[in-house]
Amino acid sequence: MSVKVTSADVAGVRVSHPDRIIEKRAGIRKIDLVHYYASVADRMLPHLQDRPVSLVRAPEDIGGELFFQKHSQKLSIPNVKQHPGLDPGHPPLITVDTLKALIGAAQMGTVEFHTWNALVSNIEKPDRMVFDLDPGASLGWERMIEAAQLTRSLLEELGLISFCKTSGGKGLHVVVPLTKHAGWDEVKAFSQAVAQHMATTLPKYFSAKMGPQNRRQKIFVDYLRNNRGSSTVAALSARARPGLGVSVPLSWDEIATTTRGDQWTIENVLERLHDLKRDPWQGYAKTRQRITAAMMKRLDEGGGCG
Ligand code: ATP
Ligand code: MN
Repeated sequence: MSVKVTSADVAGVRVSHPDRIIEKRAGIRKIDLVHYYASVADRMLPHLQDRPVSLVRAPEDIGGELFFQKHSQKLSIPNVKQHPGLDPGHPPLITVDTLKALIGAAQMGTVEFHTWNALVSNIEKPDRMVFDLDPGASLGWERMIEAAQLTRSLLEELGLISFCKTSGGKGLHVVVPLTKHAGWDEVKAFSQAVAQHMATTLPKYFSAKMGPQNRRQKIFVDYLRNNRGSSTVAALSARARPGLGVSVPLSWDEIATTTRGDQWTIENVLERLHDLKRDPWQGYAKTRQRITAAMMKRLDEGGGCG
């Protein structure tokens, strides 16, 4: 006998319509996503803490209308923290800093969490730089692997350590931690120079121009994630796409055996997390590095990639 459940309680948050199907293909319910977030909260919250977040909400299901929400609008989300004044002329930016806030956001239909490259506590000094690698249509995954490894090598050659994660969608994201020295303009210009350098030295592989016609059979290196106010899906966030893929941090020696950007989903990532022997992003927090004029000069001169 099945009983219709009208609400459930998770981490002290009342979850309405727990049985609503939010992903039709696999028959995933709202409560399944809420439980997913509750079980990864410990690992995910450090990626959200103190970082302005944009939410992708699916009030019905992921095939219905999606809302991309950068500010705390009319709709107030329980336990989410508001930060007035950081984005002049707009309602307050928000951060999701606690388990209750994470579950509260999921209760309000949030599927995806995207974060800024800076912390509220130092909003004008980015603490990371992100390269979003997007494959052209029909490009094999082995080309994506190669592209990520080449990106890593170029950055390493410049003196920068980087980390990689699946996007949970079609591609990979390369993340470069930075100490909070440079401002947005400088970091953006630098990331553009890196993307441009890759497109110039390896034009068969990379494009730094937006638009599908520019990346046919190529990887588009999207550096525009490095603007003030831009965001990238957070590690361990689900995606509002069929199967509910998850963005998963990987160690560089795992990249070669990945198969897709949505290889891990809310249904199979828990097993990976459970079996992990060490943090795939070990060393991230201890990385102290900044972009320098000398690096920029090498990029401009067309050097750096060997
Ligand atoms: P993939 O690997 O499939 O390319 P991705 O996360 O790299 O996945 P998208 O899902 O295309 O890329 O997201 C693009 C970025 O644009 C997101 O990180 C998000 O910050 C931003 N974004 C997404 N939707 C909107 C929107 N409706 N309005 C403004 N910005 C958006
Ligand atoms: Mn992408």
